[in-house]
Amino acid sequence: MLLLHPYTPGVREHEQQKCRAALDLLHSVNRVDILCPYGESLAWPTAITGYWGTQDLIICEHDIGITQEAYDGLCDCEYSHCAVAYKIHQPYVQTNHAPVYCAMVDYKFIQEGCEHADSVGFGLVKLRANVMGIPIPERLSWSNLDSKCSYAIRIQFGPWHIHWPEVPHYHEGHKPKWLFEGEHR
Ligand SMILES: [Zn+2]
Repeated sequence: MLLLHPYTPGVREHEQQKCRAALDLLHSVNRVDILCPYGESLAWPTAITGYWGTQDLIICEHDIGITQEAYDGLCDCEYSHCAVAYKIHQPYVQTNHAPVYCAMVDYKFIQEGCEHADSVGFGLVKLRANVMGIPIPERLSWSNLDSKCSYAIRIQFGPWHIHWPEVPHYHEGHKPKWLFEGEHR
């Protein structure tokens, strides 16, 4: 099992440092940190293409608070493709600006405790080598890599297994500026 950790220096650095600190606490982990310079949205898809299908992978993105429990749960699980739940904070995909979980089933965001999904965010996922037997979809950027890859895998290999409890997603600054207008802070 190889853990890939893409990160982007200089962007929300304090959030990435929390992620790094959580990664550094893990034991028995074979990890590769992948530098993805700001503004180069192809850097991470290009990097993952180099590892695609070569061995079992865990991906932990730059702002996810991984835990030993979550890591061990992924490694020990018999399912071939799994995701640990975390919340996302994208205003354009949520109602009432409340966070939603990082996976969808029947084109709806999953509810807490949901065990299977059709597509997942790649914040913290496990991919056994066999599910990467299909080619990685083309024309990927970091922002659409997870939706395109996870749907492709779901079509070929069935639903994603979702792991709980959720892990922290350090993404506090994601609200666009227009949402703050008129708010008292
Ligand atoms: Zn699983």
